[in-house]
Amino acid sequence: MASDYDLIVIGGGSGGLACVQRAAGHGARAALVEMHRLGGTCVNLGCVPKKVMWNAAQIGHALADAADYGFDLTVGRHDWGLLERKRDDYVARLNGIYERNLQSRQVQLLRGRARLVGPRSVQVGEGTQARQLSADAIVLATGGQPIIPHIPGAALGMSSDGFFDLAARPAAVAVVGAGYIAAELTGIFAALGSRTTLILRHEYILRHFDAMLGEGLTQIMREEGIEVVSAAVPRSLERDAAGSLRLATQDGRTLGPFDALVWAVGRAPSTRDMGLEAAGVALDAAGHVQVDAFQNTNVAHIHAIGDVTPHAGLTPVAIAAGRRLADRLFGGQSERRLDYANIPSVVFSHPPVGTVGLSEAQARARFGERVQVFTTGFVPMYHALTTRKPRAQMKLVTVGAEQRVVGIHVLGAGADEMLQGFAVALRMGATKRDLDDTVAIHPTSAEELVTMR
Ligand code: FAD
Ligand code: NDP
Repeated sequence: MASDYDLIVIGGGSGGLACVQRAAGHGARAALVEMHRLGGTCVNLGCVPKKVMWNAAQIGHALADAADYGFDLTVGRHDWGLLERKRDDYVARLNGIYERNLQSRQVQLLRGRARLVGPRSVQVGEGTQARQLSADAIVLATGGQPIIPHIPGAALGMSSDGFFDLAARPAAVAVVGAGYIAAELTGIFAALGSRTTLILRHEYILRHFDAMLGEGLTQIMREEGIEVVSAAVPRSLERDAAGSLRLATQDGRTLGPFDALVWAVGRAPSTRDMGLEAAGVALDAAGHVQVDAFQNTNVAHIHAIGDVTPHAGLTPVAIAAGRRLADRLFGGQSERRLDYANIPSVVFSHPPVGTVGLSEAQARARFGERVQVFTTGFVPMYHALTTRKPRAQMKLVTVGAEQRVVGIHVLGAGADEMLQGFAVALRMGATKRDLDDTVAIHPTSAEELVTMR
């Protein structure tokens, strides 16, 4: 019997939308199942609203610097509620645009929760509303959700999802965690005027990046008045008699009082209650769907992309994997797949971090003595006049006599916009000499990457 569709994609986030629309563009009869808002994490609870908040924080810093540039400004209070409403209106507009895009590409949008009920069958919705649909190929693109630690009182804190529900600025806030989200939310709260405490299990933030970045950012955070508490492993969270939050640590400290606490301790894949076990889809220990280099699961005709797989949890990664999979399945490009090496990323901290390739430690572990590293540190010219002096730092990691660049790491204003082009150069196999032979653009921070000695 013919299937209802050529393709059913479960999850209308970055990866699912990209995959289903590319497949429809190739002529596939395609359907998308989404149980919440279209756009997924990135559009509704991630990149997009986060970047709006980051932009607001950037303006906060610029206002603080303005007097140093001669402006006589009196800045009143910041209206967090107004920012939240305008941000959410923007996100709602995007939700509408995504829905119209699906219509214009003849993708069938099915609203409801999906689960596998057979090798090529998906149930959408629950109870009497449920319907079953079949497809020749099924793509799992269900993303992930924030982890809340299993400690007493953890539910008194919020995740990054809760951050986007805040209608007002908390006067005193704690952020627990040491990755992308901790770095970003800490910077936003501090710049918008919250008394901010960052709580780390180890000594510095971004420990899984090149050490220069995390150490440098932690120092800048301290200089900017953020309280960074290190070596603090959470034991329990309590609300005291005055209604404030207190975090107890395993070594007996009590941190607080805080008006709000955000857990930013990682994300887990959304693979539960989806019929994956019954269908025999193999998961790893953390619950990610295991895939080969072509996004195939171990079950024929079932594929997975994006955060639900163990690869880097970034929107452009999910999009690229989804589009390439659709090109392969429906576009006649049998070898099309995503190369997961050298994926650039930016942490939207204050200042931002941009990174691509191997950290110095990874390169030394892999190439030993053949590694040569070039570094520079400076106060960007913008800050020559300002009271704040956040230091920029850059590192090139090279290998071999030809000094092939295998890692580029930048902490400092502009790193977010700087890195994309340098990532192209790294992917193309640029050597230190290629960078040296490129004439600098002056006066910028980026020029330091082509003038390092
Ligand atoms: P998602 O976007 O999570 O989409 C999955 C969709 O599947 C969701 O809409 C969900 O409702 C739906 N779904 C789940 N289960 C079912 C089911 N059973 N039935 C039907 N629908 C289902 N990445 C960047 O590159 N840059 C950034 O600046 C950035 N900032 C971020 C900030 C935050 C606070 C967070 C949390 C993430 C951020 N990310 C960023 C990561 C980025 O959001 C994710 O990598 C990306 O959204 C993953 O896309 P996806 O398609 O795999 O999953
Ligand atoms: P991350 O995996 O980036 O970082 C979480 C960190 O928190 C861990 O590495 C760990 O660091 C620390 N941690 C873990 N468990 C605990 C605990 N119980 N108590 C205290 N600290 C703990 O997760 P995030 O939540 O920050 O972000 C999730 C993912 O979303 C990111 O990995 C990224 O893929 C994506 N993202 C991307 C962004 C971007 O591109 N700009 C922005 C935001 C998210 P340590 O071991 O040092 O303690």
